[in-house]
Amino acid sequence: MTAPAGPFAAVERAAATLGLHLTDAQLDACARYGAALVEANASVNLTAITDPDDIALKHFLDSFTAHAVRAWSGREKLVDVGSGAGFPGLALQIALPGIAVTCVEATGKKARAIERFRDLLHLQRAEVENARAEDLVRTSAHRERYDVATARALGSLAHCVELLFPFLRVGGDAIVWKGRVDAELHSAERALAALGGGSVTIVPTASLGLAEELPGRSLVVMRKDRSTPDVYPRTPAEMKRRPW
Ligand code: SAH
Repeated sequence: MTAPAGPFAAVERAAATLGLHLTDAQLDACARYGAALVEANASVNLTAITDPDDIALKHFLDSFTAHAVRAWSGREKLVDVGSGAGFPGLALQIALPGIAVTCVEATGKKARAIERFRDLLHLQRAEVENARAEDLVRTSAHRERYDVATARALGSLAHCVELLFPFLRVGGDAIVWKGRVDAELHSAERALAALGGGSVTIVPTASLGLAEELPGRSLVVMRKDRSTPDVYPRTPAEMKRRPW
């Protein structure tokens, strides 16, 4: 293994500003993951981002911003809903090896790709569930079992609240990656009131010192204060019929 060069040297520097000090082994794992992603993308459509610099910043560094928005013990159970090619879930498993990540992905080809990346990198604590979140969270092994629930590019903030909160224990945090968030806050507040939400904190990437690397993005951190009523999440048809 060699010290990181190229795009992952930039990730190393920027991650340090997030308080995340990545070892050469972790940066090497990111680089191998990125290369495997580009290779797999030739046969399965996993990502629109294929330039190495963009993969480093928009997939890996973007995932790592979660480190700066809550106090991590390093031993959390984390569920990532709609993982796609494994972001942010599997990337966070690399950065925080003591956490246990469950990636939930409805599309079989994508779930199998995440499994291959997990195996390639020997991320033994990471699990992959090829399921819809609405179904998986009805099982007792998953309902209200997680300390942290994440979603990037899964849908509106209110939709994310409905899919993430049932996974969280009381006191847990949902973290949602967003571009502009203002227009979605009102409906999200309604969803939060119904599903047990507490405080909401919006953290722009600029306030993390990453205005240049990740412009115009925010993380929305939502604490769970009360247990989620059993009626949530509704079925996909109900959610479509009655958006928040
Ligand atoms: N989080 C990834 C992928 C975003 S695309 C990233 O940011 O790169 C959204 C993904 O969520 C798709 O792969 C889609 O199959 C999955 N998805 C959408 N709704 C879902 C649901 N209800 N349960 C599980 N996966 C879902």
